Amino acid sequence: MEGMKHSSEIQQAARMIAAGELVAFPTETVYGLGANAFDPVAVARIFETKERPSFDPLIVHICELSQLDGLYRGDDERVYRLAEKFWPGPLTMVLPKQEAVPDIVTAGMDTVAVRMPANPLARELIRQAQTPMAAPSANKFGRISPTEAHHVTKQFPDVYTIDGGKTQVGIESAVIALHDDGFEVLRPGVITEADLEAVVTRSGIDSKEKQQQSPGLLKSHYSPGKPMYIVADPCNHFKEQDRAGLISFGIPGDNCHFSRTEILSRSKDLREAAINLFSAMHRLDESHIEYIVAEPLPEEGIGVAIMNRLKKASY
Ligand code: AMP
Ligand code: MG
Repeated sequence: MEGMKHSSEIQQAARMIAAGELVAFPTETVYGLGANAFDPVAVARIFETKERPSFDPLIVHICELSQLDGLYRGDDERVYRLAEKFWPGPLTMVLPKQEAVPDIVTAGMDTVAVRMPANPLARELIRQAQTPMAAPSANKFGRISPTEAHHVTKQFPDVYTIDGGKTQVGIESAVIALHDDGFEVLRPGVITEADLEAVVTRSGIDSKEKQQQSPGLLKSHYSPGKPMYIVADPCNHFKEQDRAGLISFGIPGDNCHFSRTEILSRSKDLREAAINLFSAMHRLDESHIEYIVAEPLPEEGIGVAIMNRLKKASY
C-alpha cells in the first residue's frame, strides 16, 4: 500500500494534528493546510498562516462516513446517495451543521462543508489523528493553489508537509448545496453538473443567490504574481509574445512565438488539463516572463471548472 512509504511521516503529522498544530498534506485535488476541525485555536492558525479572511469558511475532511454524524445534523437520503456515488472523491457538500462544529470553521454560518478525499494518505492521516480535519488549500489567500509539495514549502517553509507527489485531480473539489427542490453548484469541479444530475435532481435556482450562500467565492482568486490574461487565438492575437508565457490547451500552431509555452494536454483532454493547470501557472509565475496569457478552453464538462479558475486568476 502507498501509505507504507509515508507511514512515519503520517504518524508524526497525526501527532501534530492531535496536539493542535498545522500540517500540510496531499489530497487528490490540491495540497491542504489542515488542523483538527474541533479545535478552534488550531483552526484560527490556519486563517493566520494563510492570511485568509475570517468570512471564508473551510471544508472539513473526513476519512469514513461515520465521521459525518459529528458534523451533519440531518438525515437527507440524497446526502448518502451522493456520498455512496462520489466519496471518496472531489465533491464537497454544504450541509446543516451540528452544534459542536466551531463557528470559526463555518464563518459563523449554520452550515458546514464536508468531503471525503480520495487520496489514501489524506484519509490515513485523518484516521490516525482521530478527528475530521478542516483544510483549505495550502497557499496564501487568493494565490495559486499548490499541486506539488514544493509549492507549499516555498510559501510555508516552517509548515510540516507530507510530500505525496503531484496531485491526481489538480483543481479544487466541486462544492454543492442541497435545497428542498434540488442541488446547486457553488463551485464547479471535475465532478460535473451532469454527473450529479445522474444521482439527484437539479433545481432552477439563479446565480444571484449563490454569492450570498458561499462567502469565499470571490471574483479574484488563484492569482499569479504576474498579470494574466485570457486571450482567444493567442498566437494570432497577442502582440508581445517575446515578453509573455502561454498556457495552451493543446499543441500551439507554428506561428506562435511566446517566450515560454505550457501545454495543458497534447491530446486536448480536459481531465489532463485540470491536472496540469496550477503547476503550469506556478512555473510561468516563477520564470522570467512578464505576462501570462491563457488560451480559453471549451466551457463544457470539466472545462467549466478549468475556465472558472482561469477567469478568477486573470480577474
Ligand atoms: P477552499 O477551502 O479554499 O477550497 O474553499 C472552500 C470554499 O467552500 C469556501 O471558500 C466557500 O466558498 C465554500 N464553503 C465552505 N463552507 C461553506 C458553507 N458552509 N457554505 C457555503 N459555502 C461554503
Ligand atoms: Mg483555496
